[in-house]
Amino acid sequence: MIRIKAQALEELVRDIFVKAGCSEAEGKRIGKYLVIANLTGHDSHGVQRVPRYLQWKADGDFVADRTVKVVSETPVIAVLDGQYGFGQTIGPQAVEIGIKKCKEMGLSCVALRNVGHIGRIGDWSEMAAAEGLVSVHFVNAAGSVLVAPYGGTERRFSTAPYSVGVPRPGQRPVILDFATSVVAEGKVLNASFGGKALPGDALIGPDGKAGNDPHMLYGDYTPTGPRNHSKGTGAIRAFGDHKGSGLAMMCELLGGSLTGTGATEHGRKFSNGMLSFYVDPAKLDTTGFFPTDVQRYVDFVKSANPSTPGGEVLIPGEPEERTKAERLANGVPLPEDTWGAIVEAARKVGVDERRIQLAAQ
Ligand code: NAD
Repeated sequence: MIRIKAQALEELVRDIFVKAGCSEAEGKRIGKYLVIANLTGHDSHGVQRVPRYLQWKADGDFVADRTVKVVSETPVIAVLDGQYGFGQTIGPQAVEIGIKKCKEMGLSCVALRNVGHIGRIGDWSEMAAAEGLVSVHFVNAAGSVLVAPYGGTERRFSTAPYSVGVPRPGQRPVILDFATSVVAEGKVLNASFGGKALPGDALIGPDGKAGNDPHMLYGDYTPTGPRNHSKGTGAIRAFGDHKGSGLAMMCELLGGSLTGTGATEHGRKFSNGMLSFYVDPAKLDTTGFFPTDVQRYVDFVKSANPSTPGGEVLIPGEPEERTKAERLANGVPLPEDTWGAIVEAARKVGVDERRIQLAAQ
């Protein structure tokens, strides 16, 4: 494992995408959001994605510097087409529209279709919370059928993430953000590169047996080579038995079918779909009880006796905040193979060798 300073990593990712044909501003956004994922501990959605994003761009699946297209709108609704732009560009544009409408009307709903990978969904809840808004996001990933439903062994869902953000004035918001599978696919990817091992029951084979070997999902691969999930015969398991499997299905139906992205289908090119709801607490709560009650309740939850000696009850978003503080201070840890794959990608697109070495210092 090596450690790279967050800013150096962000700049290297920016340079890679600029060399690959993105504008400076887009390269910067890709660097920013991928590194935030690493900083918050979600390495699955961090810089390990660089080679795959480059491949998607080279194949024409993602297009540089797209602007979100408004398909239709009302004062409270926007239907948006991401036109297969990078999620790090289209995601913030879509959230900005939701925030603007919500601030005007107190409530808004944004259906975003056909967007490149929008990464860590918590970023979008955090963006809304920074403006004082509650938000809920149902997401699917068309073209990425990886997850077996409860009771099945075959892939039927994407890892279909779900996120809710609750602002707290003057404090870090409460941010719930997870894949509806036992693990996000990026965690399988990360484990395949020598990162953190998966829980023993994360995957399921065609024989119905649970396991955690990334080869179940990717088949054969070389240490720094690409991982192709169409080569494996297994699936990731939906989390939380029938309840998690049900939530995954709702992410497909709302984030996929209702946005016009399509509930996950085999053979379709990758695209995220996201259905987002925004609520302005200030419009709902005219006497100002909400912030006080949120604080009272957070304190109440955290005061529960720990289940293990020396343990602690954390609220959603707290682990990310702690990891971020540690990694900002000490650098982002990356398995050697992940760093190797990024260096390989940087050389391939023509990033200056001194630039690469500088990032590694
Ligand atoms: P995870 O299993 O690490 O769960 C994260 C959530 O659980 C966070 O809200 C976190 O604050 C909370 N949490 C973690 N430990 C806790 C504790 N001890 N006490 C209280 N709360 C705790 O996340 P995941 O399912 O691996 O998802 C990782 C990331 O992948 C997410 O950011 C998700 O949005 C993203 N994702 C994106 C896509 C996509 O297509 N764009 C698909 C799947 C997942």
